[in-house]
Amino acid sequence: MKHHPRLVCILLSLASFLPVHAQVVIQLAGIQHAAQCKYATVPLLDILNTYAKFPPGWRIVVACSDIAWQILRRHADAIDTNHAFTNMNGHVTVINGAIFLSPEVGRPPQRILAHELGHIRCSCDDERKAEKYALSLEKK
Ligand SMILES: [Zn+2]
Repeated sequence: MKHHPRLVCILLSLASFLPVHAQVVIQLAGIQHAAQCKYATVPLLDILNTYAKFPPGWRIVVACSDIAWQILRRHADAIDTNHAFTNMNGHVTVINGAIFLSPEVGRPPQRILAHELGHIRCSCDDERKAEKYALSLEKK
């Protein structure tokens, strides 16, 4: 069977983004080539593998451009955040790639990810609980 070249290409580029705990899927938005988002994906994979371990089957979308972030945020009606948001029912967390371009946003990326994971762990919208979880990871 002949493979469709474009499909193979897509599969290859996805494969390069499978973290060590391979069940979390990372998708990149707002760029043409995965390499353009390396500033975000390299530190992101490190955090996901060592610090904030998201549950299997979870999807993480990285907005690799400001336009992509604005569109995703508006779609989700999450205009009150400039860092990240989580859709519990959709099992998806959307991250603004700009958080990795320090010190622009100010809040460390690992805390932002741990905070979102806190929402997932408590299965709630409670900001205090999510933040408490994030801070508890930092004390370890
Ligand atoms: Zn929150």
